[in-house]
Amino acid sequence: MTNQKSSLLTAESRKPKTKVQIAIDAVVKAMQLCEQVQAEMVSTDAIQKTDRSPVTVADFGSQALICKAIGDVFPDDVIVAEESAQALKENTALLERVTAYVNRFCEDTVPAAETVCEWIDQGSGEVGPNFWTLDPIDGTKGFLRRDQYAIALAYIVDGTVQLGVLGCPNLPYRLAAAHHHEDRSENNGDTEHGCLFVAIRGEGTRLYTKAGDFIEQVHVSETTHRFAESVESTHGDSDAHSSIANALGITESPVRMDSQAKYGIVSRGEASLYIRLPNPAYPDYRECIWDHAAGLIVVEEAGGTVTDANGSPLNFLTGKRMHENRGIVATNGKLHQQVLRAVSGQRSAVG
Ligand code: AMP
Ligand code: MG
Repeated sequence: MTNQKSSLLTAESRKPKTKVQIAIDAVVKAMQLCEQVQAEMVSTDAIQKTDRSPVTVADFGSQALICKAIGDVFPDDVIVAEESAQALKENTALLERVTAYVNRFCEDTVPAAETVCEWIDQGSGEVGPNFWTLDPIDGTKGFLRRDQYAIALAYIVDGTVQLGVLGCPNLPYRLAAAHHHEDRSENNGDTEHGCLFVAIRGEGTRLYTKAGDFIEQVHVSETTHRFAESVESTHGDSDAHSSIANALGITESPVRMDSQAKYGIVSRGEASLYIRLPNPAYPDYRECIWDHAAGLIVVEEAGGTVTDANGSPLNFLTGKRMHENRGIVATNGKLHQQVLRAVSGQRSAVG
């Protein structure tokens, strides 16, 4: 008997079999939770974290579901996730809402609020020889704008990302040829959207629907001439990005997108380059591991290359932040050295 769901689970199950299955199932569930929260969202759902970035019911709910799913099967696995239950414990109303959403996805138990907090705090592990890293909602601002966001889960062994599962609930199956951020129509109406990228080291990157049905094996493109950057101008250096694009002869306007969905579009050839140079106003900013680990393997296994802005490999072993790296350059591979040369022409911006 063959159906697409079972082929997904068998084709990818050769190496870390159960880890792959668990990761896919958990991210699919988390995407559903996020979509339900988003559909029912009112703006007061966003509270302020100490870093002032908005965080939502979905952020905590997603982390709770994914940590629980991993913990059920691999109780000793270390998970380094973005959120902690601290802020939730201080906000009863929010905690109740998170618990209610998480309950919708628990078949055999009705977890109490304290249990949900415990699941969230299973994500407070430390970087070590083997660990998961999770961004329960990457691109929180995109989520709040009902635009692009991602659920990003990666498994790292001895500093090498071995598995990446990147759920992008609002990403169309295919981007319009000339994508404009202002044009939200492709996320609405009947355009099919909701993508799940699954990358396993040595086995390539596959694209599924958000329900887990196989769409295609994805590959970078050597003919596309388009670059991707963050929507948030403070998360990069868009002037420098434009100069680099000019130096490379890229004339099309950039694809501006929140979250690691940017890695997804490089992996399937809709952009040849994702560039994220340090913003000069934040010289001490260091990228977080959960913002890049899943995206990195999605691009690498599709044939692309990912380094920092100096051409150094991303070092996932220096803690939650990549203290030894500056900025990010993800390309189709072919362009990579040329981009790095153009970046070094922007040296002052890289620091
Ligand atoms: P993006 O959606 O690509 O803009 O990336 C969102 C991520 O940017 C968030 O998860 C933050 O961790 C990260 N971020 C916050 N401040 C900065 C900054 N100054 N430079 C680069 N990234 C940042
Ligand atoms: Mg993030």
